Amino acid sequence: MSLYYKSTRNPELKVTASEAILKGLAPDGGLFVPESIPKLEKTMDEMKDMSYQEVAYEVMKLFLADFTEDELKACIEKAYDDKFDTEEIAPLVKAGDTYYLELFHGATIAFKDMALSILPHLMTTSAKKNHVENNILILTATSGDTGKAAMAGFADVEGTKIIVFYPKNGVSKVQELQMVTQKGKNVDVVAIHGNFDNAQSGVKAMFEDQELAAELAQKGYQFSSANSINIGRLVPQVVYYVYAYVKLLENEEIKPGEEIEVVVPTGNFGNILAAYYAKKMGVPIDQLVCASNENKVLFDFFQTGIYNKNREFKLTTSPSMDILISSNLERLIYMIAGEDSEKTKELMEALKKDGEYQITDEMKERLCDFAAGFATQEETAEEISKVYQKTGYVLDTHTAVASYVCDQVEAKKQTGKKYLVASTASPYKFVKSVMSAIDEAYAREDEFALLPKLQEISQVEMPQAVKDILDAKVLHTLECDVDQMKKIVQEIIIR
Ligand SMILES: *Cc1c(COP(=O)(O)O)cnc(C)c1O
Repeated sequence: MSLYYKSTRNPELKVTASEAILKGLAPDGGLFVPESIPKLEKTMDEMKDMSYQEVAYEVMKLFLADFTEDELKACIEKAYDDKFDTEEIAPLVKAGDTYYLELFHGATIAFKDMALSILPHLMTTSAKKNHVENNILILTATSGDTGKAAMAGFADVEGTKIIVFYPKNGVSKVQELQMVTQKGKNVDVVAIHGNFDNAQSGVKAMFEDQELAAELAQKGYQFSSANSINIGRLVPQVVYYVYAYVKLLENEEIKPGEEIEVVVPTGNFGNILAAYYAKKMGVPIDQLVCASNENKVLFDFFQTGIYNKNREFKLTTSPSMDILISSNLERLIYMIAGEDSEKTKELMEALKKDGEYQITDEMKERLCDFAAGFATQEETAEEISKVYQKTGYVLDTHTAVASYVCDQVEAKKQTGKKYLVASTASPYKFVKSVMSAIDEAYAREDEFALLPKLQEISQVEMPQAVKDILDAKVLHTLECDVDQMKKIVQEIIIR
């Protein structure tokens, strides 16, 4: 049996999983989606004693059908090893009545590690399978989290090189230090004199630059993307929802077949889409609850059926969710349009042209697997404080958005169901906002001074990732103007 991928905007295009991973985006601008979502072969009960790696194999082999058993197992072993500070990889913590699935135990203490630890291996394996002889050059623009996770994932991976661009004054102190201290002979980081949009536009322009592509090919390189639209990032994220359900069952927190609710702090819609795929595979999940911060485009979309990005962009305390164009939503739109690629294309073009589109009533009815909510910055801070006072557990700002929405939905529905909240970052990564939420007095203190204090109040040891940046050497000092990005890529590759 073989599973192929097609573009959301063109049914004629058909590629294997490894080709989809190498390409990232379909040439027509659409996203790659599996022809159908495979059903799990084993029951939840049969998976009860499995390790994270074993569950990963059970899930991923169904999506990555052209990978051999040996190839896929090798990727999984290399990804989920002692880079994670816990053997469980994604531990489940119960605080109050809620289950938090901690997805932040990887190298950069945010959930991007769950997929970016394995993507480099999936990509080099895909390159081998498709007889690609070039080295893969990853270019990434980042507002903070993705860049570091991608660098950590690709560092010293044979046959790859990665260059990350970040806005010089647009990232937090911890985030910048994490990036400029990154080791690895194939990684480069460049601070640009501009904002995130400039960085992203610059990278996009390079992807479309045929001259540059030819020049790079001469040097033995070809571009690829570590962006969250790559199915090589989506598929590994399905794993932890299956794993979480299996662990709830193993720990007798739920009965066999019992449906749970899943709440996900959402930005680009990748994480929650993975949870939806898990439901489609057969995990007993009732609804997927989409939690937004004050940039609540998705909340409004689920309420009204209208997606409208024409609004003020707000900088919040949960910056990784500050986003107005949720690119992975296109995959859901395609599904609720009955896999109609023409309709999908029409709506996506409207989004590009007018910044807005409206789905049909029929499509809206198919959204019944989803619920949505949002939290303001005050509500997010109150949630951190409330959960800490009640249980002693410290949430990061992103997880707190979801936790707040979880309480709201629960109070409204009163179904008595168990709630699983995806916990996407360590509180250490956003220490200032987290500590100020617990006590306003902390707001006046230096970010670094707050780190040991967080350790004291949370009783959770400071992660290695944080200790590392406290005394690590700065290895990257490259800076450039926005219009010099191409030149700096040429210099890096030639040097
Ligand atoms: C990226 C990110 C999110 C949003 O995830 P999406 O898959 O983009 O919806 C939420 N929380 C944190 C900490 C993140 O880094």
